[in-house]
Amino acid sequence: MMELKGHISPSQLHTFTECGLRWYFRYVDGKIVPPAMAMHRGKGVHAGAELNFTQKIESRTDLPVTDIVDCAAASFEDSLAKGGIRLNAVEETEGLDKVKGKSLDETVKCARVFGESVAPLVQPTMVEKRIVVPLERGIDRPHLELLGIMDVVAMADPSDATRGERVRDLKIRSKTPPKDAIETDSQLSFYALLYKQLRGTFPVDVTLDTIVCTKEPKYAPSSSTRDEEDVRVVLYRLSRMINAIEKDVFVPADPGWWGCSRDWCGFYNECPAVRNRGRVIVGV
Ligand code: SF4
Repeated sequence: MMELKGHISPSQLHTFTECGLRWYFRYVDGKIVPPAMAMHRGKGVHAGAELNFTQKIESRTDLPVTDIVDCAAASFEDSLAKGGIRLNAVEETEGLDKVKGKSLDETVKCARVFGESVAPLVQPTMVEKRIVVPLERGIDRPHLELLGIMDVVAMADPSDATRGERVRDLKIRSKTPPKDAIETDSQLSFYALLYKQLRGTFPVDVTLDTIVCTKEPKYAPSSSTRDEEDVRVVLYRLSRMINAIEKDVFVPADPGWWGCSRDWCGFYNECPAVRNRGRVIVGV
């Protein structure tokens, strides 16, 4: 029986739900694969947002957009230099230099959209807030902790502190997410649970500040609420995950799932649950 120790984060729950075997490779074997280019792009834009919002808690004023963009570009380069890169099949044919140049350009454009369209709407009260909660409620594993780092907690109404706070999460996506995607976003439910632990009440709402990274990136916000029923669902899913891990059950993803592919799973080449040799093409 495996003993789970330490903390569980929203990304662990997400990974385990998508593919138990991927979770095993990452969190038991400790294997780390170089990130895809989209990850570096996201890190860059997040760094620009963090720089702006950290100082805005006190100053209540945004930095010049050029400062945010410069920070995002430098962080993109830094992330790439430190973390390496995993190219997909299309990117391999394009070559690293071309892909890197294109991704840097996307990072700059998305950071500009953030600075012009997202930042002015937000008066932060907490930035990159790390919250740790013992996992005892309904699951009875007090040696385990829930850990989440929330991008931003902001005033629901920047001119009125009595109107409460909202939890905001910045996402950089290649496509506009479906309108109702926010309703089932377990990461936001996880954050609402942590927020309630900290403040004693749920946030007024949860907001996804999505920047859609198309040729001309655009801002696509969405908001919803979270309550005890959402927390119950997250805790139930966590309890199922913990039970499976303790029993050494790591179910591989369906091989027909788009994420179970050479382009989207960094463990594909070594995974015993998928074919790692090409098929011999025979005539039909
Ligand atoms: S290749 Fe598929 S089954 Fe294997 S770890 Fe990746 S997602 Fe899971």
